[in-house]
Amino acid sequence: MIFDQNFKRLKVIKETIDLEKLNINKKSFVAYWMSSNQRVNCNYSLNESLKLAKKLKVMHKTFFIYNPRHYNSLSRHHEFMLNGLKEVNNHLNTLGHQLYFYNYSDSLIKSILKDCVCLVVDSTYTNRSKKYQKNILDNLNFNIYSVDNLYLPVERVSDKQEYSAATFRKKYYKELEHELHIHKFEIPLLLKEVDSIKIENNFTEIINKEINYLKNDEFIDKKVINISGPISAEKEIDSFIDNDFDSYEENSNNPEYIKNSTISKFLHYGQITATQVISKLNKNISLEHPFLEQLLIRRELAYNFTFYNDNYNNYKSLPSWALNSLEKHLKDKREYIYKLNDFEFAKTHDKYWNTAQIQLLTTGYIHGYMRMYWGKKILEWTPGYRDGIEIALYLNNKYQLDGRNPNSYVGVLWCFGLHDRAWRERNVYGKIRYMNDNGLRRKFDIERYVDFFNQRELF
Ligand SMILES: Cc1cc2nc3c(=O)[nH]c(=O)nc-3n(C[C@H](O)[C@H](O)[C@H](O)COP(=O)(O)OP(=O)(O)OC[C@H]3O[C@@H](n4cnc5c(N)ncnc54)[C@H](O)[C@@H]3O)c2cc1C
Repeated sequence: MIFDQNFKRLKVIKETIDLEKLNINKKSFVAYWMSSNQRVNCNYSLNESLKLAKKLKVMHKTFFIYNPRHYNSLSRHHEFMLNGLKEVNNHLNTLGHQLYFYNYSDSLIKSILKDCVCLVVDSTYTNRSKKYQKNILDNLNFNIYSVDNLYLPVERVSDKQEYSAATFRKKYYKELEHELHIHKFEIPLLLKEVDSIKIENNFTEIINKEINYLKNDEFIDKKVINISGPISAEKEIDSFIDNDFDSYEENSNNPEYIKNSTISKFLHYGQITATQVISKLNKNISLEHPFLEQLLIRRELAYNFTFYNDNYNNYKSLPSWALNSLEKHLKDKREYIYKLNDFEFAKTHDKYWNTAQIQLLTTGYIHGYMRMYWGKKILEWTPGYRDGIEIALYLNNKYQLDGRNPNSYVGVLWCFGLHDRAWRERNVYGKIRYMNDNGLRRKFDIERYVDFFNQRELF
């Protein structure tokens, strides 16, 4: 092994042959299968893969496998991702490399990895993606490694599911020794030191064809126009740091304005990573800063949860106090009960909830505070908590640009008690934390939020 495994960033998936004994010829190459880290800069997986190619003195190949039928996804997701990948390819081109792009098929992987001697993949954090990756990798006969790109690798912080942010934070801070060790995480770009394999690959043409195909798709959701890609991600975070970072604590919970970073969609596709965001902040920033609490503690706690809990997408993973309490209140009379369709097309009696849903349908984003209100009301207005979780996850993952992320599951389950504590018992909610519209009116000029989004037409 040539890697330093101390930091638990790199994991051996299989190592059938000692690296020193590999049978290498002129056609041999090392490959990086890019999936959840769709960028060049600060990409630990790409870097490990290049290190390996350099050490073995072989060529390198970076590739992406596209699944147009990825579950519950809309054109907005595909377009966001495909445009981002164009940028990744352009960036690689400037450094003498390219991104090979393939449509998924069962027989594909063996043919594109002919002559590959080692493969590096991105770590996966949910059993759905673990299974998908495993099915493919099980049939391959060479050495395979996976690389964790979180700020602190999930297995480095804890070897089990953490009960709450408090228990997770304690371990996280200990690992960082109360300092942001950013210099530890900076990585060199080795692309110029390694040759790329060269095969005909009309990347732009292939990807434009996929995008045009989306435009003919009956599910096209034209209103969601979002600029994507690693360059846009950096611009978004730069603008946030210049304009809104200093007032984050004061303003980030106020849905009247969008004063948050809005980088969750870029983080989800790996067009930017927390490490890059942190490297842009003042080095003296305290770990306890509320923005770092969200970006590091809350976000990486979500990865801890989905990584260690196979029931990450259903009620079975709720803590027992929450589950018992929700069960006890299952038969409580609900003032309103809505079906999926009523929620989906913003047809509830509550204009604040409807506005959040309209924001979601038309922009692919709901303000963080309103996401909590949105989820809590789904709990309140469905016949039972199991239906509530299903509906909230379905809508969240279908329409949020940052959906289908560990944060999506934890965000929804938080509304049903995950990573929270018991509160005063009440109807329907039991001991789950309650939210109501009076709170919105008391805290904000919530009518401004309504006026802004309610004028938008739905599809
Ligand atoms: C019901 C519900 C559903 C949610 N669904 C998603 C989802 O699908 N995808 C998603 O990324 N987040 C989700 N969240 C968490 C959070 O609301 C969003 O990450 C945040 O609002 C994204 O906006 P931002 O990038 O402007 O955040 P900022 O406030 O600027 O925060 C910066 C980053 O910190 C992280 N972060 C912020 N708040 C949280 C939080 N509460 N938990 C974990 N990480 C956080 C995100 O990565 C975010 O991009 C959900 C929360 C709830 C209550």
